[in-house]
Amino acid sequence: MPATATRLAGFTESVIRATTRLANQHQAVNLSQGFPDFDPPEVLLAALERAARGPSHQYAVTYGDPHFREALARKIGMFTGMPVDPEAHLVVTCGSTEAMMAAMMTACNPGDKVIVFSPFYENYAADAILSGAQPIHVPLAPPDYALDLDALKAAFAQGPKAIVVCNPGNPTGKVFTRAELEAIVALAEAHDAWIITDEPYEHIVYAPHEHVYTHTLPGAYERTLVCNSLSKTYSITGWRLGYVQGPPPAIRQARKVHDFLTVGAAAPLQEAAIAALQLPRSYYDEMTAQYTAKRTLFLEGLARTGLSYTEPQGAYYVMVDISPLGFATDTEASEWLITEVGVAGVPGSSFFREPEHRYIRFHFAKREATLQAALERLARLKAGR
Ligand code: GLN
Repeated sequence: MPATATRLAGFTESVIRATTRLANQHQAVNLSQGFPDFDPPEVLLAALERAARGPSHQYAVTYGDPHFREALARKIGMFTGMPVDPEAHLVVTCGSTEAMMAAMMTACNPGDKVIVFSPFYENYAADAILSGAQPIHVPLAPPDYALDLDALKAAFAQGPKAIVVCNPGNPTGKVFTRAELEAIVALAEAHDAWIITDEPYEHIVYAPHEHVYTHTLPGAYERTLVCNSLSKTYSITGWRLGYVQGPPPAIRQARKVHDFLTVGAAAPLQEAAIAALQLPRSYYDEMTAQYTAKRTLFLEGLARTGLSYTEPQGAYYVMVDISPLGFATDTEASEWLITEVGVAGVPGSSFFREPEHRYIRFHFAKREATLQAALERLARLKAGR
């Protein structure tokens, strides 16, 4: 067999997705890959049934069905207060995963440097390598994952073409403050770099923290490519609907990348998802309240194990320090948790650039009964392993 491309040696298959497969094999309660075990809103399911009998079974416009883009533009405008032109500012993609890849390929030439915080959502390193860019890692050190402005300045001094900002953060649960985002924007402006944001958890933020949309800050709009998805907001991770939002000249380029990567997101799902985008503000308030209750339930249970963790400010992940259990690596700990305890979490090392093996990432986007079942199993950790 001829050799495969050398760039593929630079990263492994997703540890998140592999952990889900292992969890399924052992019937563990799966708190690894972040997706809900409850249904999407009823209005969305009804729209999906109608879409099945509707006309949308062939290719949609590659950069998004016009009605879907209109609904999306209105929904984004409702939360950001900034007008969105559905024709000029948006490319609909297969999830934020494709949006990130398209944004990276739109912003970066092979050989360019891209700032990625560590820990980071594992796709970003692969996205950078696949687009030919080289990640420069800036630590967000546990347990508080505070932004180290000096380290960030030093990274910008290396002349990066872009910085990736996941906000609210996966896996940290960090919600960047307005002041932190303003500092990032100022550095990006000073060094003429793109800001690529990944914001699928925009509506999952716990009071008193608030989500600030980076692209709405002064000086940010013309250098920000927003990547986002409907997956988490409407509990439809399998629908693979996302988008890139940005200034028109960049969006024209991003459309080309998207067109040749995937042609388009699924047409009937775009049609059905319009119903979700038309939901009133109260839907989002209720969802935030539900996730707040799940967070309380799960963190209280975790506290009873005696293990320490960083309270997430947003998103639905929690990094738990499993070092008291005495495993050599987090991968061993994760395998033991799956096979012996019956609960799956992602080895934290898959998110870190540094050799960091103290953490397991659990998520709590699950029904109360599922979380209770997981907590009953995890309760035995109080006594050690
Ligand atoms: N964002 C989710 C996680 O971090 C899953 C994403 C995915 O597997 N595509 O677990």
